[in-house]
Amino acid sequence: MSEDTPTAITQERRVVTEIPGPRSRELHARRQAVVPPGVHSVLPVYIERAHDSVLVDVDGNQIVDVCGGIGVTTIGHTDDAVVAAAAEQLGKVTHTLFTMTPYEPYVRVAEFLAKHVPGSTAEQPYKTLLMNSGAEAVENGVKIARKHTGRPGVAVLEHAYHGRTMLTSSMNFKGAPYAAGYGPRAGDIYKAPNSYPARDGLSGPDAAKRTIAYLEKVAGAEDLACLVVEPIQGEGGFIVPADGYLPALAEWCRANGIVFIADEVQAGMARTGTVFSIEQFGVVPDIVLSAKGIAGGLPLAGITGRAEIMDKSQPGGLGGTFGGNPVSCAAATAVFEQIEQTDLLAEAKRIGDTFGGALRDLQSKYADNIVDVRGIGAMQAVEFVKPGTLEHDTEIVAKVIDRAAQQGVLLLSAGIYSNVIRFLPSLKMSDELIADVVAVIDEAIGAELG
Ligand SMILES: *Cc1c(COP(=O)(O)O)cnc(C)c1O
Repeated sequence: MSEDTPTAITQERRVVTEIPGPRSRELHARRQAVVPPGVHSVLPVYIERAHDSVLVDVDGNQIVDVCGGIGVTTIGHTDDAVVAAAAEQLGKVTHTLFTMTPYEPYVRVAEFLAKHVPGSTAEQPYKTLLMNSGAEAVENGVKIARKHTGRPGVAVLEHAYHGRTMLTSSMNFKGAPYAAGYGPRAGDIYKAPNSYPARDGLSGPDAAKRTIAYLEKVAGAEDLACLVVEPIQGEGGFIVPADGYLPALAEWCRANGIVFIADEVQAGMARTGTVFSIEQFGVVPDIVLSAKGIAGGLPLAGITGRAEIMDKSQPGGLGGTFGGNPVSCAAATAVFEQIEQTDLLAEAKRIGDTFGGALRDLQSKYADNIVDVRGIGAMQAVEFVKPGTLEHDTEIVAKVIDRAAQQGVLLLSAGIYSNVIRFLPSLKMSDELIADVVAVIDEAIGAELG
């Protein structure tokens, strides 16, 4: 291995062994002896270094990362400013426990979130609790909504994903693998039909009527504490709801005293060209959940809500040992500073144009197989079907992902039937690299259909 610093990684593919290579296979054998198979790795290639869009594995292969650890490294791997901020904080203080003796970086992150969350004003301030993971953000959002309303019910949507803790795995649409065998599942959770324009053909208001009718019948509005929605569904396949769907749901929640919680864990933090994706739909949420991209690769999650709701919890009711770790908070500050001071949001739009455009060209070329290209900004996806039907084509997606991996491109599936390829590139990925990635996918589809 050279003595290159991570920043010296050239932003290009370089395949020098088969993938996985011999050193990765060796490591994988070691891992299998000590790590249970429930912790599955999509591509068992062991990564040694990374910068921006490129992963370097232990065999020296350079792999273009179009997943970003599932939307975590939104501003790129080992971003210079994030690394510098985290390193500086590491040398100062790494832990005190905010609920014991607090520190400034936590407060700064809360200030950034209050500033950027839609709806936050001097008259109606928003406050933030910091935790470690997306699932913890969802758990706490539900706790806070229950405390505020005094009601038990949790409404979610079909195709949703909210995490793998006991409560959140009960909220996911997909039972297997996330909840299967781990029961009993949590109760008082209601899974309502969503808006899925490529498949249901419903307008936003009509889809909202269907969702609301279901919840009123099955749950009863007066028993619901909250409705938790991903403005753009992530694991579900980057489903962008039809126009008017989310505003109608938010209005219904307001009219019925139900807390509207936007789970922005995957779609938030600048990925769609606005800080929060819900801004794209003109909706003011009561609570916004952040995690994944918030700290440039370090673990951190935020629950940001209207003060009136957040202030209901008693001292000691909220928190956790590592929640709002100072190093993670320093890294998040570096992310927010780039959002505010550079053209990161415009970059998300650029990626939406180039990546989305190239994918629509693929759709024209493989019109029988690609039923939909969708997404906003740097959150794009392609849905595959069996030719001439709406039947989910899971196999072609698995094969295309496998072929792309062999060529040094890391892709990820999505959707209840894994028939969607989703793209979560770094906001700094060049148009040139995007073109290279799409060419690899084009070749892989061509070879499969050959
Ligand atoms: C990933 C994800 C979660 C869970 O986050 P973890 O950090 O994995 O616990 C929750 N909601 C959404 C929308 C996600 O994409």
